[in-house]
Amino acid sequence: MLIKNWRMVSFILLALAIVGGAWFFDVLDEEVARSHDTASRFPAAIELDPHSDKARAAAVALFAALDASESFTLSNGLQVIVIPVASSTEITHSIWYRVGAADDPPGWSGLAHLTEHATFGGTTMLPEPKFSQTLRRAGNKQDAITTYDYTVYYQLVRPGKLETVMGLEADRMNNVVFNERLMEIERKAVLEERRNEVEANLEALLEQQVRPILFPKHPYGNPVVGWPMEFEGISTKQVHDFYRQWYSPNNAVLVLHGKMDTVLANSLAQKYYGRTPSQPLPVRRIPSQLTPSAGGAAVVGRDKTPGSAVWRRDYLAPSYQAGVTQHAHALQLLAEILGGGTEGRLYQVVVIREQLASAITVHYDPDNIDYSTLSISATLKPGIHPDRVGEAIDLELRRLADTLVPGSSITHAKQDLKAKVALQVESMPAVARLVGEALVRGRTLGDLVSWPSRIDAVTDTELQVAARAVFFASRSVTGIASISTAR
Ligand SMILES: [Zn+2]
Repeated sequence: MLIKNWRMVSFILLALAIVGGAWFFDVLDEEVARSHDTASRFPAAIELDPHSDKARAAAVALFAALDASESFTLSNGLQVIVIPVASSTEITHSIWYRVGAADDPPGWSGLAHLTEHATFGGTTMLPEPKFSQTLRRAGNKQDAITTYDYTVYYQLVRPGKLETVMGLEADRMNNVVFNERLMEIERKAVLEERRNEVEANLEALLEQQVRPILFPKHPYGNPVVGWPMEFEGISTKQVHDFYRQWYSPNNAVLVLHGKMDTVLANSLAQKYYGRTPSQPLPVRRIPSQLTPSAGGAAVVGRDKTPGSAVWRRDYLAPSYQAGVTQHAHALQLLAEILGGGTEGRLYQVVVIREQLASAITVHYDPDNIDYSTLSISATLKPGIHPDRVGEAIDLELRRLADTLVPGSSITHAKQDLKAKVALQVESMPAVARLVGEALVRGRTLGDLVSWPSRIDAVTDTELQVAARAVFFASRSVTGIASISTAR
């Protein structure tokens, strides 16, 4: 299913249809953009059976760790969360900035991501390559991620190296030096990243076509890595100015997790991050004031030769902070009921019973600052026409809107969803990631602590109302990407 380079893109036939209803936005696979330091990338998530004792114990441990966490704010506005875990052998240091691709100025998509890359170029004290070398030596693992809503830098280190890493990240917050030579290298690195992660990936290419339709005139409609014609023209001065505007202690959250003494962690945070003054911040462009609007159906194109193909549908959906927010918890359960592994309704129908697809996933992220999406993606079996998959899925969605989900299924979905919280992390410890992602997007530790009870409280009627609102009253985009059999 993968294509290897641009030349082969011509074999891809993309078909898009806007289907009914109002419209929205989101993010979904927002982690398109990562550090160029691929050698240090973390391993993928460990997949555990959510029904296993181990999975449930991990979820219990996660909320216990949250309970034991300490939070405080430095006088310069830096929010600090310390999550001590005595059984851990290392420390995760993560610094989260409230800036991302959604803050790219119009016409300059990719600026936030290119800035993230450029901050690996060294500081006044540690010019390249000393900065990267010191960081690499200090950390067992490290990475940086730019998403629509935030940018995060994180390292896993031995306890004795916490001070070194904290000094380096505080240095990166203040003293990055940008020069033309390094910027040219980073522009090429981003182009290469785009080739590898977007252009060589059928699903990513499809998402890139779908998003501008779902989010017209909205930054969530642009790729996080940016459109080449835009990010290639970004000047060194633009990156420097963007960095100066947004990289500031009062625009950041520090999350420390692992084996550490809380008092020591506090004093180190004060020592290294505390000496940077706060500064005035630009007003973020999100959440937007855009409202859902009715839209007709429009087929842009269609593959005439069904072969290996990906079928995808994105529904504009509310998040915790945008749209009809009271649906957010119900939508998480709906995504679980539809796409929860091999037990999910869509898997049972589309993969097992009808044999139309080899895989199907459902994704919904309620944490977006602006609207989110509920996305369904199916990998079609060879020779299956995409319409057949769409029709089978539509029937299942209609069933959710017409008939209440049985209580036993809801209970099961709640249990699985809560167990998966501890497993959904692909790189840093689950609790550190949950805390960082929530706090940097305006939510609180209290929101996280109350989440299990909020999920438990969702009723069958609320599920039905949410299904009707999102699957039948909001805008959606259906996309089909296929590699032509003519190839
Ligand atoms: Zn990158």
